[in-house]
Amino acid sequence: MNRDDSHQHKARKRFGQNFLVDHHVINKIIAAIAPKPEQNIIEIGPGHGAITEPILAKCPSLKAVELDRDLIPLLTEKLAGYPDFQIHQGDALKIDFSQFYQAGRAMRIIGNLPYNISTPLIFHLLGFSPQIEDMHFMLQKEVVDRLAASPGDKNYGRLSVMVQYYSSVQPLFSVPSTAFRPVPKVESAIVRLLPYSQPPHPANDLELLTRLVSASFQQRRKTMRNTLKYMLDATQLEQLDIDISLRPQNLSVVDFVHLSNQIGALQ
Ligand code: SAM
Repeated sequence: MNRDDSHQHKARKRFGQNFLVDHHVINKIIAAIAPKPEQNIIEIGPGHGAITEPILAKCPSLKAVELDRDLIPLLTEKLAGYPDFQIHQGDALKIDFSQFYQAGRAMRIIGNLPYNISTPLIFHLLGFSPQIEDMHFMLQKEVVDRLAASPGDKNYGRLSVMVQYYSSVQPLFSVPSTAFRPVPKVESAIVRLLPYSQPPHPANDLELLTRLVSASFQQRRKTMRNTLKYMLDATQLEQLDIDISLRPQNLSVVDFVHLSNQIGALQ
């Protein structure tokens, strides 16, 4: 455990606690989020309130979800001047975010996310896409690179395809490790995700698309023929209208959707 001397609280590694201390970076994040008073903003993992407090100054009805019970009294005391602020103690991975949705006020989700759970958390949140206006996250830079990667990039994979199926991805800026206490071992970056109200290329069977994309990238060096032979027989393979000698990293999101719809129709 690392001691954060500015607070009576020890940073816990198992909660992915690296607290932002650089005010230049904090101001840049607030400017990117551009909070407005009437908005429905929800912060995941407020920690010591580095982002929470400047957001509250612009959007007093901010809500937050924090797992670490020891942080709740500290935050409540520190943010007592904001009577509309609500903290929910709990695990963001398990929370039903639709409880925060209000008709006509789509959710804006923000957070300097605990790195150990960032990928499952993004998938959990994408399940609430129609109720979300946008999301701004601090993530490991490597994860932002994977989220934003295009076909052919070395970082292109399951995460790129599945997240881009649901949302557009805008990498915003990098954040050096020195902006945090304790200092993490990796570089970070801010990303903006804009979920589509309807995916522009909908899959007929989302479960099949998910399975296809996972199976394809599990053996990313092999051709699609190799993955598909476990799903289709030789005659069905001949009926596909994509080039199955390609490797998965060369297929776009639209290609994967099209392929999964074709497989669904053939099976
Ligand atoms: N927002 C603060 C900042 O920028 O300084 C803290 C960021 S720290 C990287 C991640 C925060 O998420 C911590 O406060 C941690 O306790 C909290 N956290 C970890 N796992 C969580 C979970 N499953 N659900 C909600 N909060 C979680």
